[in-house]
Amino acid sequence: MWFNKTTEDVLTLLNSNLDNGLSSEQVEDHKSKYGLNKFTTKKPKTKVQMFFAQLNDMMIYILLVAAILSAVVGETSDSIIILIVILINAIVGMIQEAKAEKALDALKELSTPKALVKRNGVIVEIPSEDVVPGDIVIIDAGRYIPCDIRLIESANLKIEESALTGESVPVDKDSGITLENEDISLGDQKNMVFMSTLATYGRGIGVAVATGMDTEIGKIAKMLDTDESEQTPLQKKLEQLGKYLGFAAIAISIIMFVVGILQNRDILDMFITSISLAVAAIPEGLPAIVTIVLAIGVQKMIKQNAIIRKLPAVETLGSVNVICSDKTGTLTQNKMTVTKFYCNNNLNDIENLNIDDPVEKLLIENLVLCNDATSSEDSKTGDPTEIALLDIGNKYNLTKLDTNNNHPRVGEIPFDSDRKLMSTINKYSNESFVLTKGAIDNLLNLCTKIYLNNEIKDLTTELKDSILKASYKMSDDALRVLGAAYKAVEDSTALTEDDVEKNLIFIGLVGMIDPPRLEVKDSIEICKTSGIKTIMITGDHKNTAFAIAKELNIATDLSQVISGAELDKMSDEELTNSIDTLRVFARVSPEHKVKIVKAIKSKDNIVSMTGDGVNDAPSLKAADIGVAMGITGTDVAKGAADMVLTDDNFSTIVSAIKEGRNIFNNIKKSVIFLISCNAGEIVSLFLAILLGWAAPLSATHILWVNLITDTFPALALGVDPGDKDIMNKHPRNSKDSLFKGSMFTLIFNGFLIGFLTLIAFVYGAKVYGGSDITLSNIPDKILIHAQTLAFTVLSSTQLAHSLNMRNESKSIFSIGVFSNKYLISSIILGLLLQFLVITIPPIATLFGVYKLTLNDWIFVLLISLVPIIINEILKIFKRSNEKKVRD
Ligand code: ATP
Repeated sequence: MWFNKTTEDVLTLLNSNLDNGLSSEQVEDHKSKYGLNKFTTKKPKTKVQMFFAQLNDMMIYILLVAAILSAVVGETSDSIIILIVILINAIVGMIQEAKAEKALDALKELSTPKALVKRNGVIVEIPSEDVVPGDIVIIDAGRYIPCDIRLIESANLKIEESALTGESVPVDKDSGITLENEDISLGDQKNMVFMSTLATYGRGIGVAVATGMDTEIGKIAKMLDTDESEQTPLQKKLEQLGKYLGFAAIAISIIMFVVGILQNRDILDMFITSISLAVAAIPEGLPAIVTIVLAIGVQKMIKQNAIIRKLPAVETLGSVNVICSDKTGTLTQNKMTVTKFYCNNNLNDIENLNIDDPVEKLLIENLVLCNDATSSEDSKTGDPTEIALLDIGNKYNLTKLDTNNNHPRVGEIPFDSDRKLMSTINKYSNESFVLTKGAIDNLLNLCTKIYLNNEIKDLTTELKDSILKASYKMSDDALRVLGAAYKAVEDSTALTEDDVEKNLIFIGLVGMIDPPRLEVKDSIEICKTSGIKTIMITGDHKNTAFAIAKELNIATDLSQVISGAELDKMSDEELTNSIDTLRVFARVSPEHKVKIVKAIKSKDNIVSMTGDGVNDAPSLKAADIGVAMGITGTDVAKGAADMVLTDDNFSTIVSAIKEGRNIFNNIKKSVIFLISCNAGEIVSLFLAILLGWAAPLSATHILWVNLITDTFPALALGVDPGDKDIMNKHPRNSKDSLFKGSMFTLIFNGFLIGFLTLIAFVYGAKVYGGSDITLSNIPDKILIHAQTLAFTVLSSTQLAHSLNMRNESKSIFSIGVFSNKYLISSIILGLLLQFLVITIPPIATLFGVYKLTLNDWIFVLLISLVPIIINEILKIFKRSNEKKVRD
């Protein structure tokens, strides 16, 4: 039991030390003793299991029955081909699944949280997985607790333990509590915090006592199998579509079977052909292709610094038309540097600070002591605003370590973005000082006096005005302004939170620059041309926010800026009415963000919202796409987000939207391609049967084309390089169907492929059987010729058609025939396979085909150009229509 031991005993038992933490050797030693801090999860599926999983499918069962039936009646060639097709299909499926799985695993790995620990005397951030028992762990609000920890120090620490206890109200923790009993429930172990729970407020330090499977949560085995796989709306819709198409396919097959029987055709032949047609019509490859395209797209996004946490986000990204972005760190660099200060009624450059002046010295001391960051040569941790303040202290030899030693902290109220203030209580000889820093408007309301020229005076309205004037001057120059105040108190322990932040004595201000990110201006321009509105949301002052918004072209006029206070006075309806004109929301707290998201959404917009703090989770969830910051973001924000930016950069959101649009388009291309190919197969076979002709394709031909030839180009379309003009278009309406604007292409090309196949069949019959041959009664030898031509043309027209699918209106010659090398390779592969199938004698016999002559090949080639020529002509009309709409 760790909770009923003293902290000294715990440290000794684990061989640790509070001041320096573990040394590198100890870490290695503990790691080999206790292992990594992670759960041993289910074993991943092996390749063999994946292979057999592919066979567990209704369609495969039907095919197996067909194979057995063929074998029974002596059609061994049919059954061998069916088996080969099943085999190849399962292998391709297995490779696809393995690849998709790998991509998704990589994602999971990237989103594992980090922990702050003290090692070799320095605070460092490490992956939670590397925490070992004995590590001194620093806990701050917003972080997941990396392992089970016995607290040594705590300040207003609140922990949300729902993962463990189911109780979602955060509980108070206290390092000082002594527990003597042996038998105390987890919820009552107030001096312990547990892995996978969440710090929602305050701060703490503790020693890691259990990691990985030894933790309380590790012991609850069922928690480990909760990796639910989420389907995207598109995947769900496609599954539904697949079902409808499946029913339609079965209906068509039955009709065809009945028609065939009525025409006195061979029952077994008709049976196998009907099954092949059903198999051809069911777009069984669709779900696999969508999953792999999503997975590959997601992997590509990782390289561009966007981690997708929830797969549906990929699709939604493509239809985002409003981006709400935080200012600090996302639109700006979050590299804060203090440039100005205001003390003794004087605004000055920071270089002119006189550390010998008592007021100026107290200003810096206040900002260094009321500070949770660290900044030394070796490492900087914490909030960049606070790091900038420590850097000023370092410049004047007021390092955090020394200052803290001289004036130890005895109490604190942490910063939160609602109060926009932070206070600490520090020892100053025989009294204590409350040191408060924060947003000037909030701080000034708490001040009654001012420390001016080494004297404490009443804070008159005039003095207040001059402070505000100085603060506006700095804000107008895009500086972030922070005020400092203090008061002396006698007995710090008796103070309540309310007592601390009142009747303060104002000391001074500092202003820090945080330059905009250079690339952001271009990204905002791209958003404008692509119909996406950018909105800045910030906790900073209205003037600072507007100055930066203006520089970045987000806002041009002060009337587009609104503050949190003004927002409070508006009803939801008033906000909805004016939301279209607003571009900047300043001095807002996280609660406002939800109100803003709701107002934007009520106008049918698809909105993405960024956030980093503990309190941002509700707005991230409320938005269509919640975006968390990877560097500055808390684990809570990351947990609630759909996407995490590893570089915290606004431009990354824009590239993710671009990628999202491309991925959606590519999926659409694959799906429409596959369905139009299937339609082609149905049209040719069904029409021939209705006309009473001999079957233009045998069952094995259909299976081969449908399950082998189609698959590779469909996959290659899924990874098409994407349209470079994609960001010149407006976002897709999320309610639109996948087929919007493409239904004609789909049906037209289905019929075209079907007709061309029939033409090839008739051509083969006439060339080899004479022009007066009756198509209902073709001698076997000639039928083989006719069918081979139909089979080859079906393959080649489909392969050629894949080129048409790359863009709905642009000519394939303007995008570059060879610009998708995967597609070109799959077309070549498809043709090569076709060539081999009809050329290698034993395979040709199996397929019932013959070796085409040169003349036949020329015919195949010419007829394969038809879909390209016709589609190119159609695209000319489409382009001129689009131009008319634009003009
Ligand atoms: P965003 O990231 O949303 O653009 P922000 O980071 O500027 O906004 P907050 O972090 O909520 O928003 O900060 C709001 C205000 O609170 C700042 O303008 C500053 O005056 C004050 N502030 C920020 N950080 C601290 C801090 N660590 N201690 C005290 N006050 C702070």
